[in-house]
Amino acid sequence: MRPAEVTNDAVIDFRMVRRAYLDRVKSGDVSLREACDAERDLVRAGRHYGSYRRSPCPICSQDTLRNVVYHFGPRLPRSGRCMTSSDELRAYGSKSDRYVAYTVEVCVSCEWHHLLVATPCGRSRLRRSKQVRAQKRAPATRVRRRA
Ligand SMILES: [Zn+2]
Repeated sequence: MRPAEVTNDAVIDFRMVRRAYLDRVKSGDVSLREACDAERDLVRAGRHYGSYRRSPCPICSQDTLRNVVYHFGPRLPRSGRCMTSSDELRAYGSKSDRYVAYTVEVCVSCEWHHLLVATPCGRSRLRRSKQVRAQKRAPATRVRRRA
């Protein structure tokens, strides 16, 4: 397995970066104005298409935190495409092209925002994963036949 394949298929979790950034905000190293500077489009997407979070906003403590998913990949705008429904999200998961889904949390009250996770998706990713697993299994099958 080549390292590039591992990187392309890996889910990247940004929770540690988020925690460190929040510590910097709480210590005053980063101003609230700087931390709560979400673009209008992101706040609007959070308000209309975002999924509700159970946890309160880490800045204003209100229950106004939402997750918004943007897809980046072939034939999509450079700024990505905001997923507006779970059906659309599922449809992208079964497409033959490779996409990366970025989940961003945004508070529709104080405009705090942070990237949470980057997840590869699309069918070609699944097909390749099956191929890699099949290649890994192949030598074991041969050994069993000899025994
Ligand atoms: Zn907030």
